[in-house]
Order: sequence, then C-alpha cells, then structure tokens
Amino acid sequence: MPITISHPQKPPSWLPEWPTQAQVQEQYTLIIRNMAANLIASESKVRLFWNDTTLSATIGVHNNIWKLKEGIWDRTCSCKAPQHLCPHNYATCLLLFRVCYDQGWITPPSQRRQPKPQQTQTRRPVQQNIPFNINQDTSPGTVQKIEAEIDAKYSVT
Ligand SMILES: [Zn+2]
Repeated sequence: MPITISHPQKPPSWLPEWPTQAQVQEQYTLIIRNMAANLIASESKVRLFWNDTTLSATIGVHNNIWKLKEGIWDRTCSCKAPQHLCPHNYATCLLLFRVCYDQGWITPPSQRRQPKPQQTQTRRPVQQNIPFNINQDTSPGTVQKIEAEIDAKYSVT
C-alpha cells in the first residue's frame, strides 16, 4: 500500500539549506534507518507539517518536531529517544524527501522511474491480432485506443 502523506502546499522556505539525503543518512546508523523505514512501511497515512522555523511529522502515535534555532535544527520526539537514536527523526527526513521528490522541489539523486518493457511486450500481440478481426464496427476504434495507449507508454521517459 502506498503511503498517503498530507503536507503544506508550498515548499519550505529553508529547503535550499536543507541537507541532501546522503548527508542526512550519514547522521543515523543503519539500525535506526531500518527502523525508520519499517515505521513508514507500517503506516498508511502520515501528517507532515512545516513553516519557516518548524518541521514536524505525526507518525503513528508519535510526534516528531524539528525547531530551527539560529541555523541549527533542534529535534524533539514524543518517543523520548535521544536525537540520533530516534527513528522518527530519520523517518521525518525520509517523508520530507519523498514529498519534495514527488512535488519536483528537489531532483532525486537517481531517477528511480524505470521503463516497463514487459507491459508494451504483452500489448503487442493484441495489436497484431486486431486487423484479422472481421468486426468492422469495433476494431478500428479498438486499434486507435490501443495505439494511443502504447504511444502514451512510449512517451514516458
Ligand atoms: Zn522518536
């Protein structure tokens, strides 16, 4: 199930100063990062909020809050774990990156969208079979529809 992330409409004002995903990743151990990924995977809906000095996320029962004070982010969490041991801190970052990538506010480090050749391959025999269909009332429209679908598939880069 894809997660639903509610968030403000406009990108955060501090986004240009926000670290890259790799820089954020360096601050947390693999165990914490795995815990954060599992936390997100177990939720179907989370709430992300930000303004000029705040970033917060509601993940399950926990509230994770980042406060920007003189250029430094102070993190607090309802789970009471120390900053670098709180998986919600990292989960909040992951959610923020996901929203920014989805909205086009940040370019992802690697393009994750892969073409799906198996889909176009399974459609080809359908297209080839249609000219042999005697039913003139429906087949031309069907061909056009399928061709339009294939064009749409190919135009995705
Ligand atoms: Zn926490």
